[in-house]
Amino acid sequence: MQLAPLPATIDRRNWGDALDLDRTGFFFRQHACDRKTVWKINLSPPLDRHVILCGMKLPIVHHPAYDVTTIPDDHRFPMRKFARLARQLVASDFADRLAWHEPEAAPVAAVERAHDPAYVADILRQRLDDKAARRIGFPITPAVANRSLLSTGGTMLAGRLALEHGAAANTAGGSHHAARGHGAGFCVFNDVAIAALDLLEANTVARVLVFDCDVHQGDGTAQIFAADPRVFTCSIHCEANWPLEKPPSDLDVGLPKDADDAAYLDVLLPALALSIDRARPDIVFYNAGVDPHASDRLGKLALTDDGLRARDLHLAQTCRRLGIPLTAVIGGGYGEDRDAVAARHLILFEAMAKTFT
Ligand SMILES: [Zn+2]
Repeated sequence: MQLAPLPATIDRRNWGDALDLDRTGFFFRQHACDRKTVWKINLSPPLDRHVILCGMKLPIVHHPAYDVTTIPDDHRFPMRKFARLARQLVASDFADRLAWHEPEAAPVAAVERAHDPAYVADILRQRLDDKAARRIGFPITPAVANRSLLSTGGTMLAGRLALEHGAAANTAGGSHHAARGHGAGFCVFNDVAIAALDLLEANTVARVLVFDCDVHQGDGTAQIFAADPRVFTCSIHCEANWPLEKPPSDLDVGLPKDADDAAYLDVLLPALALSIDRARPDIVFYNAGVDPHASDRLGKLALTDDGLRARDLHLAQTCRRLGIPLTAVIGGGYGEDRDAVAARHLILFEAMAKTFT
């Protein structure tokens, strides 16, 4: 899909012009309500829902078992970055703006909405064949299976908290290479797809935007939702990176190798505007992978900390401005220095805490 030309000076002051809000059926009214700002959203079909967007703490979903200690700490997939991230959040200067929640394992029935029951059973009983396990990239042990259900439950919980509070973030999630019948690329269950289908099937939301900024194309998500008009998928990734085969998202933006902050933000703004315009979502699931960073071991792009910060702030501020609940997952981030990787993930939480609290 070609990006529609949009005004060169898109910023928060002219979002209304950029999105042609009346034409697409968005209407916004702002009400003063003590310290809180309440946006009334009227979508077509109308949902008549108030989203409270500030005067709260940012809900954070985390579980100690996100770290799998049976996988060596020097494995290419940093399975122990999650507890490091949690420690950095607790020590951060915005720790008092966070409200912690612990998820339960995702119900198997919910997982089976996005995945073939036979594949789910193979994971839960650890009977995946060698070839299928190699495609995922680490051995499927009871701890890995348990963790996959927990991080999926975390994204499901974050989605529900975002609908209640306006925004929420999981300290894991973003397993976007997991497709309907198989896992791949360190991804076992597609937590975002499962969480989106959970809300859709319950008629809690009618339309979903999956906005995927992990440096790798969101092939599993694109495959799962290829024929589902309720979900709009957008992936901004490095075209020269894995996966080689990229099943089409509703909107794919493939950046050349070594694209920097300016090149990234040049495509981010119109891609987000176009995605919201087309999706008219009741909720956004944002994969905030930090692997576009220049120091990432698997990324091939050249973003700085400031570039990631500008990206995350733009997502958070746009969703807040438009009154669309935002659910963030951390996605990919790779490197030998696990604390440095966790510190890059911290940027997302700071951007959201400063935007929504
Ligand atoms: Zn990635």
